[in-house]
Amino acid sequence: MRYQRSSALFAEAKKYIPGGVNSPVRAFQAVGGEPIFIKEAKGAYLYDEDGNRYIDYIASWGPLILGHAHQPVLDAVIEKAKKGTSFGIPTEIETELAKLAVSMVPNIDKIRFVNSGTEACMSAVRLARGYTGKDKIIKFAGCYHGHSDSFLIQAGSGAVTFGSPNSPGVTQGTAQDTLLADYNDLEGVKTLIAANKDEIAAIILEPVAGNMGCIIPTNEFIKGLRELCTKEGILLLFDEVMTGFRLGKGGAQEALNIDADIVMFGKVIGGGLPVGAFAARAEIMGHLAPEGPVYQAGTLSGNPLAMSAGLAMLTELNTKPETFTSLADKTAFLQKGIEEVLTEKGITHQINRFGSMISVHFCDEPVVDFKSSTRGNNDTFKKYFHGMLDQGIYLPPSAFESYFLNDAISYADLERTIEAVGKVF
Ligand SMILES: *Cc1c(COP(=O)(O)O)cnc(C)c1O
Repeated sequence: MRYQRSSALFAEAKKYIPGGVNSPVRAFQAVGGEPIFIKEAKGAYLYDEDGNRYIDYIASWGPLILGHAHQPVLDAVIEKAKKGTSFGIPTEIETELAKLAVSMVPNIDKIRFVNSGTEACMSAVRLARGYTGKDKIIKFAGCYHGHSDSFLIQAGSGAVTFGSPNSPGVTQGTAQDTLLADYNDLEGVKTLIAANKDEIAAIILEPVAGNMGCIIPTNEFIKGLRELCTKEGILLLFDEVMTGFRLGKGGAQEALNIDADIVMFGKVIGGGLPVGAFAARAEIMGHLAPEGPVYQAGTLSGNPLAMSAGLAMLTELNTKPETFTSLADKTAFLQKGIEEVLTEKGITHQINRFGSMISVHFCDEPVVDFKSSTRGNNDTFKKYFHGMLDQGIYLPPSAFESYFLNDAISYADLERTIEAVGKVF
């Protein structure tokens, strides 16, 4: 049996871990069946506990943009680990990574490191509230900003997959400070602002959405948000946990040519170790403790092990910016290939792509917001997912997730992937 050992390991895991996983999407509930258990990975490939090999299209959900066990990152982490993993006392490498990140990303002077994207977004909103002296935030249906209470209001991917867009445990009090708008709907945002005059601290969004599939903002929408925020004294928060150091050195700010007020990072910035960060102009960051009154802290924040992985990763990307073009080219090749096969087979589909973010939707209308992202045919998606898995292609196990290509994927791998799509249908 192809997945025998994975199946046994999953049964054992379920006895001790809720649902057998430490993050819900891994459990395959949206696609049915059981998850595979990974033994090891190198470059573009995952190897499961049964000895099957997969071309990996999630790269740990984004961080491993140069592929698994990338040598310079590994070397940096191993060397650092020998000298101690955490002190809770300042180290030089924190400044090195901060300096490099600030030099790569437009419009930021200072950065604070945390341990996850969730923590980055949660802290950024607190900073925005402290800075503006206002309480409410606007978020967009289908955008995911981690699992802190304020954001679990129509939160995309994981939360949608599990049919609990408003999670139990989030209080009414918290929920009422989060106002909800539709992605790409500037008029809706204007209406919310007018109804909550001088009460809104921040508008937070994924500048290119990746948690309801990949959704591209219209120029009018993203520019309009910037203008509205400036006019109304609202901070514009770009959640670049997914887009940061993936769409280019300067992330979505650079790709879309729009300045945000606070930018949040995660995923790539940690090189595969748990790192998140938020950054802004010095004047805004000056409100953060210990410089200012807005409290934020972390026992393991900025630990040398995590910083060494992040520094090695960003150094690679900074010295080889052609990586971003290479990734976008590969993703465009994949898009074209899959599009041709699906068209030839008469399968209704939409493919959205921005740089190296891509998603395939089995529906006939353009996918531009959360509502349109839910119209895909889920039976077709399940068949597609499992058909690809059986042929050694690991795709995101949810129709609401964007694929993340890594640069270790070769054109031969892409061709094999496209052929596999043909075999599934
Ligand atoms: C992954 C993700 C997060 C959450 O990051 P974690 O490290 O999983 O907490 C937040 N925002 C976006 C856009 C993400 O893709």
